[in-house]
Amino acid sequence: MSSESSSLSFLPGAGAGSSAVALYARETAGFEARLAKSVELLREAVATYGAGLIQSTSLGAEDMVITDLIARHGLAVDVATLDTGKLHAQTLALLPQIESRLGLQVAVFKPVDEQVIHFVRTNGEKAMYESLALRKACCAVRKLEPLSRMLAGRTAWITGLRREQSANRAEVPFSEPDGQGRTKLNVLAEWSWNDVWFYLDKFDVPYNLLHDQFMPSIGCEPCTRAIAVGEDFRAGRWWWEDENAKECGLHKAHSNEELKTGAHA
Ligand code: SF4
Repeated sequence: MSSESSSLSFLPGAGAGSSAVALYARETAGFEARLAKSVELLREAVATYGAGLIQSTSLGAEDMVITDLIARHGLAVDVATLDTGKLHAQTLALLPQIESRLGLQVAVFKPVDEQVIHFVRTNGEKAMYESLALRKACCAVRKLEPLSRMLAGRTAWITGLRREQSANRAEVPFSEPDGQGRTKLNVLAEWSWNDVWFYLDKFDVPYNLLHDQFMPSIGCEPCTRAIAVGEDFRAGRWWWEDENAKECGLHKAHSNEELKTGAHA
């Protein structure tokens, strides 16, 4: 965990209508060094992995920093996202903004229609609230299967994971195996939430307007809520579940067979 805990970033006195930039953008000691390190890691990744490299963006604040770094430094990195069919309109609204303001096309991977229809017919639209197994099965159909197609043929992927995001992520390294023969690059691993917002503000990067509504971590609409002052960074994700279960599987190692079948759920 970084020296600034995630919950400390949400300061008392934050009133409704305060923008995320106004609340969180702060230049703190070492920011320029952390920024330079991230750019260096991205350049090294391009040199090492070439066309095998991809940024998997959730369109969240951290990933918008990375996409902007890719555009700003002219790095040859493909950018892709998952459209689960359950995203907020505010999240999807970023896609044309990335194209018009950053000059990058984002490849969009969607779940297989038949799998979604079968899952909903069998389990209902609100299955994710009924059990951990059904929630993970929904993530398997809507996220993990399209992710496996996104990463097919790739040797490395760039994520926006940071150590500060949760206790589960406190040990996130800059580089790690993903369990499927690829390398996962967490180029913002040591950034703070204040760093992320300082960057977005400084370089006028578009961001998800839901961040202005106390949603620091944004996923699918049914599985994301705003957090209260003092709550943990990821408290608004799958809030009805046990703390230790709060990952969708995107950042856990699974075999290719598990990804195809959702058997890990
Ligand atoms: S986050 Fe929620 S809606 Fe999205 S895929 Fe997972 S369970 Fe389904």
